[in-house]
Amino acid sequence: MSRVLVIGLDAVTFDLIQPWASEGLLPNFRRLMTNGAWGRLESTIPPVTAVAWNAFATGKNPGKCGVFDFVRREAGGYGIRVVNGGSRKTKPFWRLLDHHGLCAGVINMPMTYPPDHLEHGFIVSGFDAPGLTCDSVYPPHLKELLEQYAYVVHPTHTNLEDWRKSLFEVFEVQARAFWELDRSQPWDCLTMVFMQLDIAQHLFWHEMETGDSPWGDVIKQLYRRADAFLGKVLSTLDSDTTLMVVSDHGAGPLKKAVSINRWLLQEGYLVPRRQGVLKRAFNETLRKALTLLNMHFAKCIKKRLKRSFAGFRGEVESYLVTAQIDWTKTKAFALGEYGGIYINLRGREDQGTVPPKEYDLLREKIAAQLLNLRDPDTDKAVIQQVYRREKIYSGAYVEEAPDLILDWDYAYDCRERVGTGHQDIFENEATYIAFADYKKTGVHRRHGIFLMYGSPARPGYVEGARLMDIAPTLLHLLGIPVPDDMDGHVLSDALEPDWLAQHPITYQAVKPDADAGLALGYDKNEEAQIKERLRALGYLDSIAMR
Ligand SMILES: [Zn+2]
Repeated sequence: MSRVLVIGLDAVTFDLIQPWASEGLLPNFRRLMTNGAWGRLESTIPPVTAVAWNAFATGKNPGKCGVFDFVRREAGGYGIRVVNGGSRKTKPFWRLLDHHGLCAGVINMPMTYPPDHLEHGFIVSGFDAPGLTCDSVYPPHLKELLEQYAYVVHPTHTNLEDWRKSLFEVFEVQARAFWELDRSQPWDCLTMVFMQLDIAQHLFWHEMETGDSPWGDVIKQLYRRADAFLGKVLSTLDSDTTLMVVSDHGAGPLKKAVSINRWLLQEGYLVPRRQGVLKRAFNETLRKALTLLNMHFAKCIKKRLKRSFAGFRGEVESYLVTAQIDWTKTKAFALGEYGGIYINLRGREDQGTVPPKEYDLLREKIAAQLLNLRDPDTDKAVIQQVYRREKIYSGAYVEEAPDLILDWDYAYDCRERVGTGHQDIFENEATYIAFADYKKTGVHRRHGIFLMYGSPARPGYVEGARLMDIAPTLLHLLGIPVPDDMDGHVLSDALEPDWLAQHPITYQAVKPDADAGLALGYDKNEEAQIKERLRALGYLDSIAMR
């Protein structure tokens, strides 16, 4: 019986693997590239973790998954919510496998909370789980097993040294949990995701590039740790198991931050409320909080206060951003990690201003202007393409997407803030995240990695592989017909022609499924916790939160 093991390394890139592998620092990545199929893996637009892992899980585009960012808009209003696995509107591959009687195990994958109640397999929810609870694993008794390994879902820290320590520690804890689950649970398909490389690249990219930093080799050491893990995987791999290593997107240095909302303001599409009033309110609130901090508290209490103050400031700022926009005069606003643009459409939005007959024209106009948004220092375009949502997405949930999707030069990082002191569209210095003692200096790129090793794999480079292709490929490797509503294709170039001849690809006709996941939202505390987690990685700027 054939089995598939998927190791997900969030944000891992060949841009770092290739040079380090040729220096001999990553012998197991090198072994996989020499003896297996491999290639750059195209992520989603935008290459946001929440969107990308859903494409991996379903083999479908965001229009069918119904997830377009880490946040989603509340229908009709201007409030936003954080998404989780329950927001996904279509079946992930582990539910298809379960349906066919196969055991699927999924460990630490983002967008798996709440966990699906599988009949045969098991799930340990990832990044979107508030923590290790009976509700974040399925079956629930796995919680006790994981507690024995001091399992951690996703810690958050406020300085680089704490982050460094924790990245290595959590990698060890999660790897140990992986080996225990691998040993103790039956599986036909097992997926394990490590997030540490993504976090490290967000926080330590600049440190890596400046030679004298004490944290200069954190990223490299973590790649080496992942390589050693792959070495152990390879040494225990039996001949019936195919190994896939994937990342949901790549990573690279952050050049500059760009505020699309500031740009919309400058072009007259977004109208702020009177600044003076808001600025006074903001300064007054900050002054009060600072006075509180400067009172004579014991050091540890001060530290604790400072921490809660960070959250407090975030809330204040978020409130002010919502409050800052005069919706009755605003035609468009940006939201999400890559500034998806929503038209303030009459009849759709609470206080919509744009008549439906002007909708298309306005989209065209904004798109054309955005393509002309240039970095004043280099005169280079910042946005490579602006897509009408229906141009790149298809499916039942396209209408929940932003009206315009921006495809960036991803060295630029999108900022959503409108005002509160940051008046420039471009910011040279990556701004501090939520008063933490570090900056975000690395950001995502459109291409992740794909490696496949085992008897069905044809060694060599594979051109044009996409993240959406992984799910159908994995189903085919396990002998399951590919549902014909998947957008991805079996990566036949990655497979041995002889194997493929013996195992022709089969398809299953399915009705477009309107199959909502377990729609379990967060309670208020949980949502606050997830927001803080996202903010610590610079994923949430000062966006409108309610
Ligand atoms: Zn990611």
